[in-house]
Amino acid sequence: MSEHLGARGIAHIVLERDRIAERWRTERWDSLVANGPAWHDRFPSLEFDGSPDAFAPKEQVAEYFERYAEQIGAPIRCGVEVTSVRKHEGEPGYRVETTAGSIHARYVVAATGAFQLPAIPPIVPADTGLTQLHSSGYRNPQQLPEGGVLVVGAGSSGVQIAAELRQAGREVTLAVGPHDRPPQRYRGRNFVWWLGVLGKWDAAAPPEGAEHVTIAVSGANGGHTVDFRDLADSGITLVGRANSFANGVMAFGSDLKENIRLGDENYLSLLAEADAYIAREGLDLPEEPEAHLLGAYPTSATDPCCRWILPPPASPRSCGLQDSTWTTAGYKSIRLMIAGDRCTSAGCLPFPGSTSWVTLAVAPRIDVYLGCLARREAPRRSDRDSTRVSGV
Ligand SMILES: Cc1cc2nc3c(=O)[nH]c(=O)nc-3n(C[C@H](O)[C@H](O)[C@H](O)COP(=O)(O)OP(=O)(O)OC[C@H]3O[C@@H](n4cnc5c(N)ncnc54)[C@H](O)[C@@H]3O)c2cc1C
Repeated sequence: MSEHLGARGIAHIVLERDRIAERWRTERWDSLVANGPAWHDRFPSLEFDGSPDAFAPKEQVAEYFERYAEQIGAPIRCGVEVTSVRKHEGEPGYRVETTAGSIHARYVVAATGAFQLPAIPPIVPADTGLTQLHSSGYRNPQQLPEGGVLVVGAGSSGVQIAAELRQAGREVTLAVGPHDRPPQRYRGRNFVWWLGVLGKWDAAAPPEGAEHVTIAVSGANGGHTVDFRDLADSGITLVGRANSFANGVMAFGSDLKENIRLGDENYLSLLAEADAYIAREGLDLPEEPEAHLLGAYPTSATDPCCRWILPPPASPRSCGLQDSTWTTAGYKSIRLMIAGDRCTSAGCLPFPGSTSWVTLAVAPRIDVYLGCLARREAPRRSDRDSTRVSGV
């Protein structure tokens, strides 16, 4: 916006309470890279250094924003927080209060970001003695205490963090809600290219009758298609949506298989649309029949678990949870997908013997809810029996 205003000679200032690209500096995990390739995830007037097909690490993204601000000569005042904006009485314009004084402005553009107000759904009460960690506070596996991890939410953040934790040797359970999962590449083109030529980026709203769902993509390790079969093969246990927590029992929906099925449907429909586009436009792009072949559903989808039993909150010390903290966050602008189905299966997750703590977190990105749960002792029969499943 500043580039366009500047190009038209319109006087303006940009106020930033921290530093340029602050979110990319302090609200992202260490290994995060852009989900789209550098040729795409950029402004028209500035390219990233390096290969256009690479996925820029978060530090490079922050540097890129700085370079871009310099290039366009953006009149940015860093370290100035806007505390209120009030319309003038009886005259045009606004009175903007900031930590550096008042400003009178004819027009105000609020560009404070879509992911700025963390909000954790009230699934696990604050007095459980369990730790909750928001994904904006997640940095790396070493940051987490020892033990198994439950990642709730399988959008881009959730699947990437789950994979990273699993790679680091953690016992990981991933709660999977509805999602879209476009192929990272198909017939020689990246998914961002396909979403562009197929008009998906321009969609003002989801197609009629369709709910907005999260998108699971990943630029990690050079970029790859998110397939929940691969995540299951890597040793991650998949469960349905995290529904409720009561009496030390985390209850999951019975929707895992359906969510995977719908994700597959979304994936295959994009391939079909891409094929039709290629035929229509007469493009010479290599065929990729193997991309249409999906494996069998993971066992966790055909034989689902619906509850994860935790030590009773009344006796956290005896269960090794005394060191846990419960810090949660989420994003209020995000419609959380935690709600829904009653659990129909009576299955329960086996607990790895070494697990000893509990974390639950909400990931900011696109309807994601991330969390970690673990326990040291085997679940008791009475815990299982006390399961109460309720929508949140
Ligand atoms: C984990 C994650 C991964 C992502 N990956 C990608 C990706 O690969 N590619 C991509 O294109 N997008 C990605 N996104 C989305 C992208 O980060 C956002 O869409 C983008 O940052 C939005 O830019 P923005 O300028 O609107 O808001 P923000 O980047 O949120 O910037 C808002 C700024 O406003 C400042 N601010 C807030 N309140 C005030 C105030 N009162 N006074 C002064 N300043 C204030 C904040 O400090 C902040 O710097 C990702 C998001 C997340 C969370």
